[in-house]
Amino acid sequence: MNPEMEKQIAEIEGIIRKYNPNGDFAKLYKAFEYAEQAHKGQLRKSGEPFFIHPVAVAKMLAEMDMDLSSIIAGILHDVVEDTEATSQDIAREFGEDVSYLVDGVTKLKHIPTSTKEELQNENLRKMFLSMASDIRVILIKLVDRLHNMRTLQYVNTDSQITKAKETLEIYTPLAHRLGMTKIKWELEDLCFKYLEPDTYKQLSANIKQKREEREEYIQGILETIREKTSELGISAFLDGRPKHLFSVHKKMVRQNKTLDQIYDLLAIRVIVDSVQDCYTVLGIIHELYKPMPGRFKDYISMPKPNMYQSLHTTLLGPKGMPFEAQIRTWEMHKIAEVGIAAHWKYKGGGTTDAATDEKLDWVRHLLDIQKDTGDASQFVETFKMDLFTDEVFVFTPKGDVKNLPAGSTPIDFAYSVHSAVGNRMIGAKVNGEIKPLNYKLVNGDIVDIITTKEVHGPSRDWLSIVKSSEAKSKIRQWFKKERREENIEHGKDFIERELKKQGYTYNELFRPEYLDALLRRYNFNSLDDLLNVVGFGELTAQKIVSRLRDEFLKDETNHEAKIGKRPGQKEKRESKQTTDHGIVVKGIDNCLVRFSRCCSPVPGDMIVGYITRGRGVSVHRADCPNIRAMEDFESRAIDVRWAQNAHSVYNAELAIKAFDRSNLLLEIAGALAELKLNTKAINARITRDNYDVIDLTVEITERDQLDKLIKRLMRIENVVEVTRKSN
Ligand code: MN
Repeated sequence: MNPEMEKQIAEIEGIIRKYNPNGDFAKLYKAFEYAEQAHKGQLRKSGEPFFIHPVAVAKMLAEMDMDLSSIIAGILHDVVEDTEATSQDIAREFGEDVSYLVDGVTKLKHIPTSTKEELQNENLRKMFLSMASDIRVILIKLVDRLHNMRTLQYVNTDSQITKAKETLEIYTPLAHRLGMTKIKWELEDLCFKYLEPDTYKQLSANIKQKREEREEYIQGILETIREKTSELGISAFLDGRPKHLFSVHKKMVRQNKTLDQIYDLLAIRVIVDSVQDCYTVLGIIHELYKPMPGRFKDYISMPKPNMYQSLHTTLLGPKGMPFEAQIRTWEMHKIAEVGIAAHWKYKGGGTTDAATDEKLDWVRHLLDIQKDTGDASQFVETFKMDLFTDEVFVFTPKGDVKNLPAGSTPIDFAYSVHSAVGNRMIGAKVNGEIKPLNYKLVNGDIVDIITTKEVHGPSRDWLSIVKSSEAKSKIRQWFKKERREENIEHGKDFIERELKKQGYTYNELFRPEYLDALLRRYNFNSLDDLLNVVGFGELTAQKIVSRLRDEFLKDETNHEAKIGKRPGQKEKRESKQTTDHGIVVKGIDNCLVRFSRCCSPVPGDMIVGYITRGRGVSVHRADCPNIRAMEDFESRAIDVRWAQNAHSVYNAELAIKAFDRSNLLLEIAGALAELKLNTKAINARITRDNYDVIDLTVEITERDQLDKLIKRLMRIENVVEVTRKSN
């Protein structure tokens, strides 16, 4: 190993020792030796030995106070991809944790990142995150990219531009999202330099030109503040702020300003030990200089979503020149620079104190983790990301990314490419192997759809296999167009069934005068068009039949003033109760009567009648909450009473509320048997407040039986309440 490298490595050890004095340094040295050996003979584009790259990556990770596994993985990150060494070798020599991280970084290399479409970038970023099951993989990857960008001058112009674009589209947004400002800024400036070389040169020259003047000015301000803070015994680190060219450039473009109008150029930063000191220093500065209205921001009490905290204020300096001040603690400073990576610094020896938990909450928020990962300490241990669990990212054979809902199949994929691909699909290869059509795609799968020349169309079963609404609607679309005859037949079936359900005949409802209005309403040219649409499921038969029924009933109320005199209908719909429903309607003989389903009256109940539109008189309990709310209740109410000697059978519905216990249902059934009552239906459910509610339908002939039953049920242990149902 050459002396320069040895010096570098010793330096790295020194950095790590400061925050992790008990680390396994033998393992660290072993990793350096292993990487040097493995990369022996390989050269960087600069002509230097390849080994300088992993050393640089390790150093940056150490500067971010990363854990030793990450640093070792950083040293070894190119070994599996570019040398003979396998991931088993790494696991054996350096342990599972390191090998896991190296594998993660290696996997990310296979994501093609050069795309033409901007749309894909968000997907690619998400994919990066979801494929890196450990956040440390992303950190290593970002640092790797940073070093490559720093040494980009050695590659040709074409690759410079490609790399810079890719960095700006994929890596800097990730760095931003993870709060890694320092890396983000440096990457952005490097991209700026390669993508807009002229503007970059111009801007940096302009900034340089006035640098001396500016620094003198800033130094004056710093001196003034320093005096005041030491007077008050506050230990404060004061500094002019480093310039970030790309953000200055963006600001100038976006706000259409000249360089002189950008405040950030004249900026100071004060770093103190405590939050209390931050506000004290703010007070000092506001006393020394006049603050500019509307320019104060307290990101300490309101941190930015990427966990950034500081006080920002802009002040009027000497000679009337505005300058910006940022005030923060050391901890906030660290977080402002390395973002999520700061987590490892404060993680401590595996224990989590309250402060760490708070930070983790914050990190969780940052990463948009939707599901609660449960125990916070477990979260620290594994730091697995549970991102985008509702999406899956797969590739076309050409390397384009498709973003599908989790659980998607090759059919979803085919339709996401084009409906013509879906409609010609006969099979699929995933990663080169034939897979069944209901195969669930996983992140990173390369999907190749096998198609035929002739369009045979999807199968109806596919509707239950596919996950994406896109595929569903495209499959439906196909059936709508291609299977018209079949659909019309299906449509007829559906309509027939619905008619039967609602108790009407085809001839009753499908009269031309009703139908024409309906076709116009939905914009159909013919009945077949309508049946077609019902057949493939875009419109329900229920909707159609209900509309026609409404027309029919309207008609009927117009023509027949008298209630319930629809010939031929009476027997059909009321067959169960016409024989002897036991109700006398005042002033009307032979009238159509039905019992309301909402309150199920039984003989002995006080009852009222209500004249419905075309369906005779419905009988409700007088205490039914629904009846008085009905349309025109006053004018439509009619006197009804129970007939004498009515020997009909009535359904009574009860709800029994009870505390949960075993054998409850058994005892209820026992009570029913005791009273010789016939049970029609019994259903148990649990309410939100954890009661059992048992819905019971029993046949009775008079009210008295019901009262007895209720009393009997109330005697059952744990039963709280028994009520007549009224829905
Ligand atoms: Mn690398």
